[in-house]
Amino acid sequence: MTRSLFDTLPSPEPSTLTGFSGNRLDRRSEQRNEASLSAALADPSARVMLLRGDEAMLRSGEAANALFTLREAEAIGADLDEVILLGWADSAPRLAATITSETTFDADSFHAVSMRTLAINGAAGGLLADTADPETLGALAQARALLHWHRSSRFCGRCGTKTMMSQGGYRRDCPNCDAQFFPRTDPVAIMLAIRDDRCLMGRQARFAAGTYSCLAGFVEPGETIEDAVRREIQEEAGVRIGRVAYHASQPWPFPMSLMIGCIAEALSSEIVPDTDELEDCRWFSRDETLAMLEGRHPDGLSTPPRMAIAHTLIRAWAEGD
Ligand SMILES: [Zn+2]
Repeated sequence: MTRSLFDTLPSPEPSTLTGFSGNRLDRRSEQRNEASLSAALADPSARVMLLRGDEAMLRSGEAANALFTLREAEAIGADLDEVILLGWADSAPRLAATITSETTFDADSFHAVSMRTLAINGAAGGLLADTADPETLGALAQARALLHWHRSSRFCGRCGTKTMMSQGGYRRDCPNCDAQFFPRTDPVAIMLAIRDDRCLMGRQARFAAGTYSCLAGFVEPGETIEDAVRREIQEEAGVRIGRVAYHASQPWPFPMSLMIGCIAEALSSEIVPDTDELEDCRWFSRDETLAMLEGRHPDGLSTPPRMAIAHTLIRAWAEGD
């Protein structure tokens, strides 16, 4: 029998284990044009997601969900001049708009929940799990990243003129110099370095008490993912890295990143931590890591929640070969 490159890949696809990865909207990006948005707005099945910073607006009560009619969105105070088209769920258009922080709304009917809270609850089956289904979370991540990009791209980077939204929200055009601007995604390398059946984790001062996680950093211009992994670990922990293997990715809408998760082969053990970045950084045995994942560490140390790609990486190593 012929062996395939794909036979050795983990299943299920590791990226699907992360929060915000369940977006199933049909983007129809090849057909997207100037008429797409007005056609979507005229469709009675259109529903809009409403965001205020990184908070999603939810309907309160038994039918909790994140989808509103255009009329409801307007009544709540959404900015429909800057509504964007995310895609289609079956044939129903899905849009997104911003609610300004000054808007007051009926707290009995609606409430705003941070997308981090939604993702943590969704992955843990908590109180908000019904609302935080993977498809909704994925679409919210798309909405958050795009709406943030629009807010931060109001003026032409070439001539300074105010830019105009086009292509349903997937481009901004400069009416003065004809420059076109496209939504940005910022790549972040996040990695678990391993050596002698131990893994390298660190903690930043802003982490919850006792939490240790993978090291991470932005991929810089002109750099491969593998080189970014080697550079980040060298800079943050002083550990030399050899081979690097891609494992999973995660849309990370805080505000518009793509986390690229890798396992890295450490070639040295001594740690020289960057104390500006890390409060602590050390090696963890497989047994200690499993105790952290399972919430039974004697000193109460823990890993990030299940929705985070760091958790996916740490679990894949701790439970794997
Ligand atoms: Zn311009």
